[in-house]
Amino acid sequence: MINATLKELSAALAAKSVSSVELAGQYLDRIAALNPALNAFITVDAGKTLAEAAAADAARAAGQAGLLTGVPLAVKDIFCQQGWKTSCGSKMLDNFIAPYDAHVIERVRAAGLVTIGRTNMDEFAMGSANENSYYGAVKNPWDLAAIPGGSSGGSAAAVAARLAPAALGTDTGGSIRQPASHCGITGIKPTYGVVSRYGMVAFASSLDQGGPMAQTAEDCALLLNTMAGFDGRDSTSLERPTEDYTRELNNSLAGLKVGLPKEYFAAGLSADVARVVDAAVAELKKLGAEVVEVSLPNTELSIPAYYVIAPAEASSNLSRYDGVRYGHRAAQYKDLADMYEKSRAEGFGSEVKRRILVGTYVLSHGYYDAYYLKAQKVRRLIADDFKRAFEQCDVILGPVAPTAAFNIGEKSNDPVEMYLSDIYTLSVNLAGLPGMSVPAGFAANGRPIGLQIIGNYFSEAKMLNVAHQFQQVTDWHRQAPAL
Ligand code: GLN
Repeated sequence: MINATLKELSAALAAKSVSSVELAGQYLDRIAALNPALNAFITVDAGKTLAEAAAADAARAAGQAGLLTGVPLAVKDIFCQQGWKTSCGSKMLDNFIAPYDAHVIERVRAAGLVTIGRTNMDEFAMGSANENSYYGAVKNPWDLAAIPGGSSGGSAAAVAARLAPAALGTDTGGSIRQPASHCGITGIKPTYGVVSRYGMVAFASSLDQGGPMAQTAEDCALLLNTMAGFDGRDSTSLERPTEDYTRELNNSLAGLKVGLPKEYFAAGLSADVARVVDAAVAELKKLGAEVVEVSLPNTELSIPAYYVIAPAEASSNLSRYDGVRYGHRAAQYKDLADMYEKSRAEGFGSEVKRRILVGTYVLSHGYYDAYYLKAQKVRRLIADDFKRAFEQCDVILGPVAPTAAFNIGEKSNDPVEMYLSDIYTLSVNLAGLPGMSVPAGFAANGRPIGLQIIGNYFSEAKMLNVAHQFQQVTDWHRQAPAL
């Protein structure tokens, strides 16, 4: 059962061959055995989980079960969930028990999914390696010396290690796709505005987007059906007709136009990743896809643009943590200003402080035009690059990250080196497009490598179709680490 997909668990629950309480118990046992080494979860509360599972079993007995009722789900510690600690990986929120549910949590609760625990993450979702958590680094289940990717590294590691069949993640600059790639699972970051940000702790509001992480594209589609939807409490939530993201899964790929951006296959891409992506493209060709070369000429500028815009927005969003209303407050201080300063100095880790400093600087009078405004102009150029590319193709394929997972500690002392590893994921967020990662092979050292699929706005169903068809003829997504 431990390797089962959401689809399979849903069928087993419907057939009553397992109860939700039994299923939750299996995963909780596995978490108890393996989490001490992996550190994928910040909070596990067996009492709460089993109560949710019992409620799901009762709903089923009363004939009120939906497709995912009773299925366990790991939740990134960024989603406010009533009664659960919602730390966002930070000492600042170590004492914060959410008093309300995020919209996404309301949706998964209404669907009867059972919270198996709250997953570790980079502090305030800032990072690419999950080394920035107040709760310590997450280990990659494929190789405990490797990073799992970030910032949704706990969610990715949990699914890869079969501590949960699926997880919720968020992606501001790659945080669903890159950990999915490094841990050998599937994850999709939807079009900006498809999933409500209400109750999702804010990092960079114009880039943040929640999404599903699971073993298969089909499972991601099922979970996205639950997560997506209009919410009036998020001013950027989009009011669109409800979609069934599974509707195109079984379509043929014959005649599909696949774009390969030449900038994604230039210097900087490791031989391992190039080999895996080439092989995946060849596989899709066998399924009938036609390949065209496209160009995204402003790709390199995505790094400076993102690392101006995201910190700018973060510096504003994180001003709410002042020690007054909630979160960490310094024990000793002289006056109000001193209380603010000490609370923030003690509550935030070094990467978060670095971003607040950079963000405040680029927004300050005299530098705003040179940095922030310039970055916004570059952002438009990047979106225009994609617009032109999608005139020639249906989906874009490429790498997720330049290399397979690097070692813990390898880049943690060099923030710029860390930022550079985000080169293939940031543009998608800057343009507001959907992107996903699909397991596609392994590096010579045995670490997983994902294929990135980028779609035009609202083409999630098409991307999931490409991923699902790929998963019908490959079994990379079915492989699990030996633990
Ligand atoms: N690695 C990027 C950063 O550090 C993206 C993080 C994210 O998507 N939350 O900002």
